[in-house]
Amino acid sequence: MAIFLKTEEEIELMRAANQLVGSTLGELAKHIKPGVTTLELDKIADTFIRDHGATPTFLGFPNPYGAPFPASICTSVNECVVHGVPNKDTILKEGDIISIDCGTLLNGFNGDSAYTFPVGEISEETRQLLLTTKESLYKGIEQAVHGNHVGDISQAVQDHCEAKGYGIVRELTGHGIGRKMHEDPQIPNYGKRGNGPKLKETMCIAIEPMITQGNRQIWLMPDKWSIVTRDKKIAAHYEHTIVVRKGKAEILSTFEEIEKIVTI
Ligand code: MG
Ligand code: MG
Repeated sequence: MAIFLKTEEEIELMRAANQLVGSTLGELAKHIKPGVTTLELDKIADTFIRDHGATPTFLGFPNPYGAPFPASICTSVNECVVHGVPNKDTILKEGDIISIDCGTLLNGFNGDSAYTFPVGEISEETRQLLLTTKESLYKGIEQAVHGNHVGDISQAVQDHCEAKGYGIVRELTGHGIGRKMHEDPQIPNYGKRGNGPKLKETMCIAIEPMITQGNRQIWLMPDKWSIVTRDKKIAAHYEHTIVVRKGKAEILSTFEEIEKIVTI
């Protein structure tokens, strides 16, 4: 396993790529409302990323089972957990949730962050899933400090979500990130404290809980991208890219632009 530590100069480039992801998600937040299609959101994101001198990393991303990813963001609505493909037929409606995952490549380094947005008014039950998933992300980030292990992050996420009775998707994980979007190590959302690779200062990782309202079983859809819950219950996904530091991790991506507009 090759885990790449970053120089401070590289971390600044990582920050720039991740801040751009945050601004892109903030731009999308303005447009998420009933009646909009996921394809329209994709076009907005693609234009915004390119206007800021970056490349959308997801477009053309290879798939071992099928065609490369055909869009610039992943748009996963309701029971779709992750990797939903933007299209003209998926029209958002009041009470839906949409998880948008966005990646940019800027000056040779990757940004990666995701947020689950409410569409109009959502039910209290739905809101609780969103809040708990987002909280679990920050519980994981609290553990991402020099000297801890990957398992410390994993268990923190797992404990927080399972205490509420939610399901934790195990087939997909967070990851190291840098010049490549996916580097070592994997960051599972379940596990045991003290297990897994040791975290070292300047490691950059993406932590991304994928949490379901029902059980954790998933299907891969015939489009070979969209991952949905088997029981058709909704799922949430929040992701930050962070850098491991001594004492306290530093978050390189941001929800600040989103949360000027969106309240969960
Ligand atoms: Mg992502
Ligand atoms: Mg990721």
